Amino acid sequence: METEILYLNGEFMSLAEGLIGVEDRGFQLGDGVYEVIKVMNGRLVWAEDHLERLSRSLVEVRLSEALQDHPLPSVLPELVRRSGVEQGMVYIQVTRGSAPREFVFPHPPCPTVLAYARSRPAPTVETILGGIVLHAVRDQRWARCDIKSTNLLAAVLAKEEAREAGAHEALFMAPDGMVREGGSSNVFAVVDGTLRTHPLDHRILGGITRRRVIEMARDRGYRVEERGFTLDEVLSPAGAGPELFVAATLIDVMPVVRVDGRVVGKGRPGPVTLALLDALRREQALLVGVRPPPALT
Ligand code: PMP
Repeated sequence: METEILYLNGEFMSLAEGLIGVEDRGFQLGDGVYEVIKVMNGRLVWAEDHLERLSRSLVEVRLSEALQDHPLPSVLPELVRRSGVEQGMVYIQVTRGSAPREFVFPHPPCPTVLAYARSRPAPTVETILGGIVLHAVRDQRWARCDIKSTNLLAAVLAKEEAREAGAHEALFMAPDGMVREGGSSNVFAVVDGTLRTHPLDHRILGGITRRRVIEMARDRGYRVEERGFTLDEVLSPAGAGPELFVAATLIDVMPVVRVDGRVVGKGRPGPVTLALLDALRREQALLVGVRPPPALT
């Protein structure tokens, strides 16, 4: 049985009981950061990596003390246990807290720390094998996309525009035509057996899934280049491929079969994409102690 449990500022309560101040800076100023961790078989997947990234985000927004009284490595498994979530996610948010509305930091600091778990089905085999469609949009986000900030307005507008265009995910494009990342995912291309993805810098979020995909690809002998690319570069060559996929915590690796009007490769998931997804799913299954799902390749 699943119950909606919230961890808020050191206490567990029902989600409905959780109260955040009207002047919480996360609400008024978007002055906060967040994380999303996958839950499988009631266990957190790659929690250390996510908590490390959360710490980094907190340092970058000068909120590094916020977690001092919140031992998330033990709080989160307890939260998942109390919530009864088997398959889904944990959402964590840390803001600079509630204080009379001013742009400058409140003194003393009074951060809000919260987390809750939610059930959510993993993508079905039909969805994976059908692939998804991307809709390209101009990247209008701020210049620190490496911080997992709750300022998500540009992503909200981009993803809604994608949905209205009949696509599943937005594709953030730089003004010079370089592919940056998805609305809430990193993007990889496969051209002649080589993986290409945007380098880690302030223009993209350093995805945890991105990092794992790169490691697994290298372990399996694929070449990986962390180098920007345009759609023309990766979709035009006639050689093996091309393939395109997005990677993120709640969707793992998801094949892309079309970008707006342009069909990717043969219009169905490519073999490298599916091999990497199989490897990712095997690793996760091993980690949480379940039998790996049947291979897709
Ligand atoms: N880029 C952006 C902009 C995102 O919002 C996300 C999802 N959090 C990702 C990439 C993928 O990151 P991760 O693999 O850590 O979920």
